[in-house]
Amino acid sequence: MKKKKIIELIIGSNNTGKLKEIRDLLPKRIKIYTPKKFKLNSPKENGKSFKENSIIKAKFYSKKTGKICIADDSGLEIDLLNKSPGIYSSRWGGKKSNFNLAIKKVYREINKKDKDWKSKKIKCRFICSLTIYWPNATIKNVSGIIEGIISKSKKGKNGFGYDPIFIPLGKSLTFAQMKPEDKFKIDHRAKAFKKIKKFF
Ligand code: IMP
Repeated sequence: MKKKKIIELIIGSNNTGKLKEIRDLLPKRIKIYTPKKFKLNSPKENGKSFKENSIIKAKFYSKKTGKICIADDSGLEIDLLNKSPGIYSSRWGGKKSNFNLAIKKVYREINKKDKDWKSKKIKCRFICSLTIYWPNATIKNVSGIIEGIISKSKKGKNGFGYDPIFIPLGKSLTFAQMKPEDKFKIDHRAKAFKKIKKFF
């Protein structure tokens, strides 16, 4: 495994929310490129797991640019829904990534499974698979998980995606009600990132 500290890389994402979150996790001295600078669209995410999709993205952007790439694939698993939306978390928001729609769909699907769900704890987790891909084809992949429950209603305005319906285990606020800096200390992306910190 490479020991040399990374001094520049491309973040393999065209999602502005995610770009910001990954940029904030990286040390300020690192020169960061984005796919936009190279006019690159996103690759097809046809993997069967978060890990496969995160490697697909990291490899794609590294091969296209000749740079080291860091990419993540993440999503929400709900036990009652047999781990859906899972790797399709972003697709549940439709073409325009409308998360109001995605959240409505979550509640609709949960209701279909169990009308009395509000009296129960609906277990779920956010998962993040992070990959660093070097131009010499070295791959480092790690993952981070945060367990939680589905909130009985949408709460909070911060964050993105499913944040308004995710309450981390042991807390009473949703991710969207928390201050962003409090979310970033405990979330799945931060947990995964801690495992690759040594490369930076
Ligand atoms: P990806 O770009 O395919 O990895 O999509 C990940 C999707 O998972 C996002 O579009 C969100 O729907 C969801 N997601 C991942 N991480 C978070 C998070 O921290 N908060 C809320 N939703 C998330």
